[in-house]
Amino acid sequence: MKTVTIARGDGIGPEIMDAVLAIVNAAGARVVWEEIEIGEQVYLSGNTSGITKGAWDSIRRNKVFLKAPITTPQGGGYKSLNVTMRKSLGLFANIRPCVSYHPFVATRHPDMDVVIIRENEEDLYAGIEHQQTDEVVQCLKLISRPGCEKIIRYAFEYARLYKRKKVSCFIKDNIMKHTDGLFHEVFREVAALYPDIATDSWIIDIGAARLADTPEIFDVIVTSNLYGDVISDIAAQISGSVGLAGSANIGASCAMFEAIHGSAPDIAGKDKANPSGLLKAAVMLLNHIGQQDVAERIENAWLCAIEEGIHTADMYKAGVSQECVGTQAFADAVIARMGQLPQQLEKQTFAKDFTLKMPEYHRKAATKKILKGVDIFVDWKGKNADELAASLKQLNNGIELTMITNRGVKVWPDGFEETFCTDHWRCRFEGPSPSDYPEGVDKRCIPQMLEKAVAHDIDIIKLENLYEFDGKRGYSLGQGQ
Ligand code: NAD
Repeated sequence: MKTVTIARGDGIGPEIMDAVLAIVNAAGARVVWEEIEIGEQVYLSGNTSGITKGAWDSIRRNKVFLKAPITTPQGGGYKSLNVTMRKSLGLFANIRPCVSYHPFVATRHPDMDVVIIRENEEDLYAGIEHQQTDEVVQCLKLISRPGCEKIIRYAFEYARLYKRKKVSCFIKDNIMKHTDGLFHEVFREVAALYPDIATDSWIIDIGAARLADTPEIFDVIVTSNLYGDVISDIAAQISGSVGLAGSANIGASCAMFEAIHGSAPDIAGKDKANPSGLLKAAVMLLNHIGQQDVAERIENAWLCAIEEGIHTADMYKAGVSQECVGTQAFADAVIARMGQLPQQLEKQTFAKDFTLKMPEYHRKAATKKILKGVDIFVDWKGKNADELAASLKQLNNGIELTMITNRGVKVWPDGFEETFCTDHWRCRFEGPSPSDYPEGVDKRCIPQMLEKAVAHDIDIIKLENLYEFDGKRGYSLGQGQ
């Protein structure tokens, strides 16, 4: 028997959890359920994280968690519990299979069978945001090599285990050459270790367009956090209903399983909700804990109900569906078909050895890191960049002002008067000639510049050092430079 932590959640959470537990128990799962409370009531009791210490203890002890959707109260500084859990428990991989059940569930994409594997811990979701001037706020996009390696290796291992043919990488490295560039570079490196699996790479905009239009050309997609968040909802929606997809959040020691939809307060308590998303999550959970026999029984009984046209309201379509049922009746229909196999939809069997053996991360040998200069960000309300440049030249100090940009566009030297400028200026100082500084510029010039800036009343809001790594520039050029 395996003990699994569960939370009934908010809105439709309790009713779909009851339905799912009834099905899973009827399938003979060798599981003991340990219930915790998370979500709205916990938030409203004054706990801004939405989870108590006792609940954390249960999840960390059992390591496996089935979570119904929760409601995050509006305003009041409540932190997203999902993001907190993913990051605190190191659940680096989010896996969302999105399959169409044509012709039994209406969809324009009869052949869709896509798995989206999304990085879950970093990118713009690092949650590092700052207001720097009256007019400009910033969110830091952090992409790490270990973060990329873990998620991309996970995607290839998953593809191999599930006999998938292709892994596609979604990035925007034509614009974000360093962050998305790193993700893409690691993708190419890891892909070379899996010659049995085909690969391709897509710029996120056209990739998302093709996913929405011709999802059948994709198999497994691996991508970073924000892109994955967006495309996985698109994929679930076009497969038939957001009520149909489950997801797994996997870490090195813990795992959390949930439906992809929210707490649907509009239909809560009305016995209308589709429990399938949470049921799919439970099937992934059973696979994760090695109970493939139970997972297969549930999946096949569910497929039988679907192909017999027993549908909840979100899936119901006159002429396709046979019967529109409520949450509980749908669960009863699945239970009644336990042990049966679908006649038209493909019968499911799950890989026996589900546990993914992730290779350990090995840090590469340190590169030669050389300081080339510094970008100083200045809050300045003026308009004419020549004026700002004249003032900044007072800071020249072994390194010299070489460029000013505004929102990334070069405005000095030789800027265009058409360029719209805010109060946020990036001012680049570099060593005058690289040959004079083969070992890089002296780091002490930076604090000295800061002191001078204070003396000259220049409002520096942030610094970024400019480094070269093994001779490779580690920073972007200005637009127009
Ligand atoms: P939602 O997913 O709850 O609902 C969107 C629409 O889909 C609604 O019309 C709803 O009725 C329908 N729907 C959702 N699940 C369904 C199901 N199982 N069966 C039938 N129809 C279903 O999204 P929302 O309205 O934007 O969010 C509501 C609340 O859920 C918010 O408080 C949000 O913060 C929270 N939320 C929680 C999670 C989570 O816990 N993982 C995820 C997303 C949203």
